[in-house]
Amino acid sequence: MRRGTERIMTGRTDRSDADDERAIVVGGGYAGVTAANRLARHGARPLLVTARPHFVERIRLHRVASADRPHARVPFDALLRPDVELLVATVARVDAADRRIVLDSGAERPFGALVLAVGSGARTVSSGVHCVDDESHAERLAGALRDRPDAVVTVVGPGATGVELACALADSGRRVRLARAARLAADHHGRALAARLTSLGVALLDDDVPPVAAAGDLVVDATGLAIPALAHDSGLPVDDRGRVVVDRSLRVHGVERVYAAGDAILVDGPGTAHLRPACASAIPLGTAVADVIARGRPRDAVPGYAARCLDLGDGHGRVQFVSRTDRLLPFAVGGRLGGIGKEAICRFTLRWMRAGAPSPLPSWPTSRTGALARTTAGA
Ligand SMILES: Cc1cc2nc3c(=O)[nH]c(=O)nc-3n(C[C@H](O)[C@H](O)[C@H](O)COP(=O)(O)OP(=O)(O)OC[C@H]3O[C@@H](n4cnc5c(N)ncnc54)[C@H](O)[C@@H]3O)c2cc1C
Repeated sequence: MRRGTERIMTGRTDRSDADDERAIVVGGGYAGVTAANRLARHGARPLLVTARPHFVERIRLHRVASADRPHARVPFDALLRPDVELLVATVARVDAADRRIVLDSGAERPFGALVLAVGSGARTVSSGVHCVDDESHAERLAGALRDRPDAVVTVVGPGATGVELACALADSGRRVRLARAARLAADHHGRALAARLTSLGVALLDDDVPPVAAAGDLVVDATGLAIPALAHDSGLPVDDRGRVVVDRSLRVHGVERVYAAGDAILVDGPGTAHLRPACASAIPLGTAVADVIARGRPRDAVPGYAARCLDLGDGHGRVQFVSRTDRLLPFAVGGRLGGIGKEAICRFTLRWMRAGAPSPLPSWPTSRTGALARTTAGA
């Protein structure tokens, strides 16, 4: 077992120089695992503090809900480099002034640099409504589907999660309706998704159906993600959704030695509006934040994109190419080839996290046309 795993912290008062200078990463998701591994590649011995004893491949949770997969867990031993110490614990508060984190148990850990990578999770949905935003909710939906084999499922929200879930459920033989689907007609990518949904028998509802449960139906709210309250509760600068506000080098505004990456951030400044909550953002952000810390100098860490990849059921998928700033390009790969592309990306995701680098290529696109951020230099 990895050092620190499952350890219960019991109030620690000794504070060595090594502890004081240590980098701590909070959150073992896509951004946090990448950042911790990247720091280790830079020669650091980071501590990864995370709430669950395993990594969750959230991008596969719609398949957990549809019972195509028993779970989406990956053991940390298969992901973390040997120099990353793992502590399974929940961080209750960050004391930025005194440079320490406080765990749920009341125990404390000092840091030299802190990366907040707490991601996003399930929103509070109304009673009887489901979501697939985190592991427990996806499993709960799978259980409800088992208990009610004839129930019609209404998925509310035509974003990537809603579309993937609707396809997975329809593929498993469910009667599925996708509400708020009118938005899909807005561009060629959406229209291709609508065609695939229709071919699977998903009823597309244009109505703005509120995510509340109707008698006999199962309703899944796929309209958005919630941000953990840690940054807010710690008095760090947050936006109205609770995302911690960082500059382009991922430094938390006005707070020394505290950085953030992943879904739970708002990058302040021009040219950042394209950033979306995605592992396609979290992995390059995790890489960049580790580089900023290890090299001790700012860099433009705002990532760009190359494609949007969706699992559309029964081995089908769609890899829609986009500009660095996430604008749709007129190229896409669909059908079974698209499904192979999507599955390959999912597998590479784990490989990139393990490597602490977001790409097998020597560079990853930034949001600035023509500008490429070095991601593997020095590592
Ligand atoms: C069904 C579904 C399908 C998706 N499909 C795609 C896709 O195809 N492509 C794509 O790019 N994105 C997809 N996403 C979005 C993607 O999963 C997220 O953007 C990604 O998980 C964000 O990574 P992260 O590292 O910021 O956070 P997370 O992966 O959410 O990890 C955050 C971690 O921090 C831990 N944590 C939180 N608070 C604390 C605390 N106080 N103390 C200790 N630990 C804490 C959590 O337990 C978690 O392990 C999908 C999401 C869902 C739900």
